Amino acid sequence: MSSSKESYAFKKELEELESIKGQGTELISLYIPYDYDRSSISSKLTDELSQSSNIKSKTTKKNVQGALEKIIHYLKTVNYRIPKQGIAIFCGSFSREAGGHKIQLLTVVPPKEINIQLYRCDSMFFLDPLKEMTASDEVYGIVVMDKHEATVALLSGKKLEIIKNMVSQVPGKTRAGGQSAQRFERLREVAENEFYKRIADIANSSFSELKNLRGIIFGGPGSTKNHFLNEDYLQARVKEKVIGDMSTSYTDESGVREVVNKSGELIENTEIVQEKKLMDRFFENIARGERSTYGEKEVREAVLEGRVEILLISEAVKMKRIKLFCGSCEKSKELTVKDFKTFRENIPKCECGATFEIVEAKDLYEELSELAEQIGSNVEIISAETDIGKQFMMAFGGLGAILRF
Ligand SMILES: [Zn+2]
Repeated sequence: MSSSKESYAFKKELEELESIKGQGTELISLYIPYDYDRSSISSKLTDELSQSSNIKSKTTKKNVQGALEKIIHYLKTVNYRIPKQGIAIFCGSFSREAGGHKIQLLTVVPPKEINIQLYRCDSMFFLDPLKEMTASDEVYGIVVMDKHEATVALLSGKKLEIIKNMVSQVPGKTRAGGQSAQRFERLREVAENEFYKRIADIANSSFSELKNLRGIIFGGPGSTKNHFLNEDYLQARVKEKVIGDMSTSYTDESGVREVVNKSGELIENTEIVQEKKLMDRFFENIARGERSTYGEKEVREAVLEGRVEILLISEAVKMKRIKLFCGSCEKSKELTVKDFKTFRENIPKCECGATFEIVEAKDLYEELSELAEQIGSNVEIISAETDIGKQFMMAFGGLGAILRF
């Protein structure tokens, strides 16, 4: 479940870009980071423009040149000012909702920073760098440890970052000659305690400020990790993020990888469990006939009355909210349509006999969630792939709400 509406909207934007195909090698993708080198970008575009005269196909040549000119013009228009996160520019000849093929320019300001400068000309847009950004904003902390070594790491999507590997000063099992057994034990305890404090310092400072931290998983051989967790080494707010521990053979980077490999279920489950909890609450309420509703009309009503605590929308919902206007008698009309394509081919007539004009077509989730957010409701996008998400779509049309009263 993606809890953020923005990331869902971004995903949809990418899907749309992905569906665009060029007739030839003529679709241009240009990635510009914030701290880009202006001269190298403009010389690249000028180079490509002069090289394009060698393109054999007349249409492709015309489209590539048209696209390059449009990009150059666009950059001049914004005076080469690039947003903080950088920008991705997509340009070429293609058709969208209405009209035929024409040269169009689309820009995407991504949710995360673009850090590459890149130019591509292909029969489709190059979207890999943006797609990587949709790969989970969710971060997990990993700590593998025993008495002698510890490694603290962060797992962000598929990216694994080792924050710190530490080795303890705890003396081995054999004591030096002349030391009393008691004194030796005492030294060991002190050294162990010091080591645990060092691990906790790194874990506290690495994990406590992370807003998107979903959980921390501990690993390592033996019971040292459990002893560590039972004592108050970790800050309370870090400790409460611990979602599990498991046995691993190693306490270095390969131990961290063991945790990642073994915890697939643990990590996946937390997301699924959260979605399930929410949906269970919804299903239970429905069964009891209280504080829940479903269906487009009912949910919209509840939103407008300010009764919605959590708006639930399946990502499988493809409906659109349409605004119509009659130019002849100036009548406006709003309605929800399931199949926009068919609707567009057969737009209804106004009572006065003239044909309505479509002045706005918004995805339903966008329109409804904007309304819901205005009254302080939470909006949750429910996945289309999980069992419970499929059930929600099948039985409730993918649209429901948990109500405040
Ligand atoms: Zn009319």
